[in-house]
Amino acid sequence: MNAFNDTLSRVLYIDVKNKKFWVTERKDLFDKYIGGAGVAIKLLQEECPSGADPLSPENPIIFAVGPLVGAFPLASKTVAMFKSPHTGDLGESHAGGRSAVAIRLAGYGAIVIKNASDMPIYVAIHGNKVFFRDATTLWGMGSSLTAARVMREREIGTGYRSIMRIGKAGENMVSYASVTVETYRHFGRLGLGAVFGSKKLKGIIISGKQTLQVTNKKTYKDLYDRIYKEAVNSQVMKKYHDIGTPINILNLNNLEALPTRNLKQATFEYAEKISGENIAQNYLGKRVACAHCPTACIHLANLREQYSDSPYFYKTTFVGYDFELLYALGSMLGIEKPEDIFMLIEEVEKFCMDAMSSGVVLAWATEMFEKKLITENETDGLNPEWNNTKTYIAMLSKIVNPPNAFYKAMAKGVSHAAEIYGGKEFALAFNKNEMPGYHTGPAAHLGFLIGARHSHLCNAGYSLDQSLLLTQDVAPETIIDKLIDEEAFRQILSSIVVCFFARGIYNLDLISQLLATMNINYNTDDLKRIGKEIHAEKYRFKCREGFSFDKLEIPGRLFETPEPTQKINKEFMRAALNYAKEKIKCQ
Ligand code: SF4
Repeated sequence: MNAFNDTLSRVLYIDVKNKKFWVTERKDLFDKYIGGAGVAIKLLQEECPSGADPLSPENPIIFAVGPLVGAFPLASKTVAMFKSPHTGDLGESHAGGRSAVAIRLAGYGAIVIKNASDMPIYVAIHGNKVFFRDATTLWGMGSSLTAARVMREREIGTGYRSIMRIGKAGENMVSYASVTVETYRHFGRLGLGAVFGSKKLKGIIISGKQTLQVTNKKTYKDLYDRIYKEAVNSQVMKKYHDIGTPINILNLNNLEALPTRNLKQATFEYAEKISGENIAQNYLGKRVACAHCPTACIHLANLREQYSDSPYFYKTTFVGYDFELLYALGSMLGIEKPEDIFMLIEEVEKFCMDAMSSGVVLAWATEMFEKKLITENETDGLNPEWNNTKTYIAMLSKIVNPPNAFYKAMAKGVSHAAEIYGGKEFALAFNKNEMPGYHTGPAAHLGFLIGARHSHLCNAGYSLDQSLLLTQDVAPETIIDKLIDEEAFRQILSSIVVCFFARGIYNLDLISQLLATMNINYNTDDLKRIGKEIHAEKYRFKCREGFSFDKLEIPGRLFETPEPTQKINKEFMRAALNYAKEKIKCQ
């Protein structure tokens, strides 16, 4: 048994119906699964009854952090797990900000939210105390930013503090509603916001003042300095700081792999204008960082909007942008001006919606309208067309407050809407989760299909396309093996819990040394084994809740729009999926 000599193994249970809370020691889970994703998936299996409706009180929300959080640079993430109202199986999303360090310093390794409140509330966790606050006046507020400001003003206190909250999309249970953390970080994907909404939980504020213990201070300091230096000096991390992930816009466009206008094309004629380079030179206002991160990859642009009644007065807003946002609310919708993308980002921020899902849903609707498969009857009088920001802003509002059945369907995602209205072949989703911005080759799309969260973050298939498939013929089985290995490794990063941008620094050998400074002793073989076990546990949950490889559908559009490797074809993709089904057994 490893000796956890601090508070990591304490799990805080909060019952929002009965307004009760209690703490349970779960050394059993933390000893075996480290923390973060490993512990969260076991808690989800325990707390979520088989077949539970994701929007019923039975669906729990789990937050978990890991042993390195608060102790080492870039160990800044919180893992959220729940049953997803968007896909019907595993919901997992990660966010940084100050959330992870605040949970750790409040004295917990995990938090489990159970049941549903009968009135709007927010929960304030201040160290050992938990308060259930009336949030009636915050419910229905136009902007989630205002709600967060009110929570911040009401909860006066010291210590490390984080604020999470939902907007109207979560309140109205849009299945891809997100939870915003502080101002610019999100539990974006798979609908955690809707689960908050179903519990009438407007937000959570958490603060803590505890300190962490290390056993060998000299080794700790040496290792800390080594990571810090790599984080500030390495070229990879410098890239995240300087231009950030938006550097991918031009890279992917040059490769002819940037999804554009609902992936009717993979190049965008305005890529230069919306590129990370152009935005950094002409719009970047500042960079900010998650707690305990020297990289500061969060880029904020200045959005300057003229007040309509005067030529001399402007409203200036900081808007967070990254590659996925520029793709989903930019090239995917044919938007050519950065200012217009920023306005769309502002809109999804206000409502707290996942930007990727929102962009893909709007792109599908635009093509449906273009092909005359829907009319103004469905769109409620709007004419969606590429590059028409005003119409897209109006449509987002209607998705959140649906005036008719069409918008209600859009509020459940592109797969659901396409089931009813058609256009399945160009509904770009993988197990119902809308597509990330990579049309690099078969590995990217196989990665979305077989990743436990159906995200580019599961296994980075896009990188495999570029490093391997561009130049070599590779068997489908080899790709699947590599994707699964990468995903198993990432389970360790998600359990300690470190930002994926630091994956080049945190290798298994280093992780083993870092854990040893906290008296947690795993060698690299142990870590490999645990990574595989966590991956298997996630699939156990997915399969229990109805996921099946046989039900996976590949959008037809992938086979129509050329990609750089020229290796996507139906036989290849099917062979790969058949092998994945054998390898990742549904138990
Ligand atoms: S690299 Fe970016 S996302 Fe990762 S911890 Fe640092 S600021 Fe947060």
